[in-house]
Amino acid sequence: MSAVQRLSGQHCTYFMRGRCTRTVSPEESARSRCGLLDERRRLGAKTMDRLERLQRLADPDDREVARRHLIQKNMDAIARLTCPGLVPPPQGGLLCVHQHLVNCLLKLPNCRGRCDDFLRRRDFSEAKGQQP
Ligand code: SF4
Ligand code: SF4
Repeated sequence: MSAVQRLSGQHCTYFMRGRCTRTVSPEESARSRCGLLDERRRLGAKTMDRLERLQRLADPDDREVARRHLIQKNMDAIARLTCPGLVPPPQGGLLCVHQHLVNCLLKLPNCRGRCDDFLRRRDFSEAKGQQP
């Protein structure tokens, strides 16, 4: 007797390069986040906080020098951040090819084939035919 095979999940809304992006709990969502992105955001927020505090400096020249120093420090710190799985896109830039929104595709499970949660992706031609 031949084994029953699932249909492909390729046309599912949640399907992204062989992975299933449907997370079912906040814990699971947290686990699949891109750590590099989170770390960049954390550094950015810390810098913003420090920039806010610079407003307390009375001398505008001192403020400007300190502002430039902080921004440079932030850029250097961000440039030093890395991740073992990081693959920069061919066209260059800070992103990673595995990043999908705030998630890392490598941390998401493989699509197991068309399942009960399959949600057909609405392509452009279908969307165009619908009334608003
Ligand atoms: S592999 Fe890429 S997307 Fe995944 S955590 Fe590392 S930098 Fe983020
Ligand atoms: S078919 Fe199921 S497993 Fe595959 S992407 Fe869709 S929801 Fe995820």
